[in-house]
Amino acid sequence: MQQLFNFLDRSPTPFHATANLASALQQAGYQPLNEQQAWQLQPGGKYFVTRNQSSIIALRLGQAGLAESGLHMLGAHTDSPCLRVKPNPEINRHGYLQLGVEVYGGALLAPWFDRDLSLAGRVSFRHNQQLDSRLINFDRPLATIPSLAIHLNRDANKGWNINQQTELPPVLCQTGTDQPQLHQLLAQQLELEHGIKDAQVLDYELSFYDCQGAALIGLEQEFIASARLDNLLSCYLGLRALLDSDDSQPALLICTDHEEVGSASACGAVGPFLEQTLRRMLPDAESLARCIQHSLLVSADNAHGIHPNYADKHDSNHGPLLNHGPVIKINSNQRYATNSISAAYFRQLCHEQQVPVQSFVTRSDMGCGSTIGPITASKLGVNTIDIGAATFAMHSIRELAGSQDVAHMLKVLTAFYSRSGSQPEK
Ligand SMILES: [Zn+2]
Repeated sequence: MQQLFNFLDRSPTPFHATANLASALQQAGYQPLNEQQAWQLQPGGKYFVTRNQSSIIALRLGQAGLAESGLHMLGAHTDSPCLRVKPNPEINRHGYLQLGVEVYGGALLAPWFDRDLSLAGRVSFRHNQQLDSRLINFDRPLATIPSLAIHLNRDANKGWNINQQTELPPVLCQTGTDQPQLHQLLAQQLELEHGIKDAQVLDYELSFYDCQGAALIGLEQEFIASARLDNLLSCYLGLRALLDSDDSQPALLICTDHEEVGSASACGAVGPFLEQTLRRMLPDAESLARCIQHSLLVSADNAHGIHPNYADKHDSNHGPLLNHGPVIKINSNQRYATNSISAAYFRQLCHEQQVPVQSFVTRSDMGCGSTIGPITASKLGVNTIDIGAATFAMHSIRELAGSQDVAHMLKVLTAFYSRSGSQPEK
């Protein structure tokens, strides 16, 4: 559990998540591939490749012929809703320095108030006449969005429309004669973290995050409370399952950025990252087509657990419980890519592993979320199943999942990666 918590806490942005996944893969003997260079893949080889430093694919070629065995793939996403700093962010109001922010993804905004916020991301700069970039993480509370006292808004508990332009800029400091600029703070941070002196900061992608770390909570420590459980929990489980599974089986893990904003980017699931990587693995079109038709993709993303205070938001026959095992997500309108064949495969896998399994269908009179599952299924033509851990407070700054579901999911996903083909073993 501590490893998971470290991963969650040290991955405040998709860049950090990708760097942490890459370093774990490298430690486990996976070799980095560079998309700009020619690849010489060896049979049985283990590799990983990143794009935009925010999406990553790990691939294990295994011993079997890919055209005959197919690939067991798991997909998840590295991004989470958050507040992103604008390019010219400084706002001076009444002696306070604030930073203007844009809301990234469908964030639940109220929980962002009164938290101890820090800042992390990627900074691009000029140094010694060269352009370069580094990841930074201030890793300490340096800003907050204070609520308005209830005395000044007596209707605050009756529903509250948050204006994203005016109400969200976090307060960074009080200003005196010497007013800091964000670019200066970033240059100082580059020196502190990377020893780079006098960098001229040119651009950045920075987001605020909650400093409070992941924790086990509940009377019996039933729950995990953390930021970004959607979907770093699945990224972590995919990584661990890959590394813990039978090395002789071909396998692929893909964790992409920009899911929370529709996945349409060069490194997102709508983009060609996976397809191009598969083509480079299997340049022969016939072999690739056969491989894909023997393959199975598990799209792992959190599922809405039935909330005891809002139980009527669920179909009463499809209310997944925390700690009751992975949730198969089904939607006849293909918001989830699950079909009866892929669901049956996964149910059988859970049965073999003695792990409970649940089903989720959204209420017929409500809209439904989606995942990278239908996107990847429709781009590649690969049989897919959408699953995930039951979660509360999805897209809040602090989400809640079941601590036992970590073991449940890990067991099933490790078994999934330890075999090939589209039939369970028994
Ligand atoms: Zn998600």
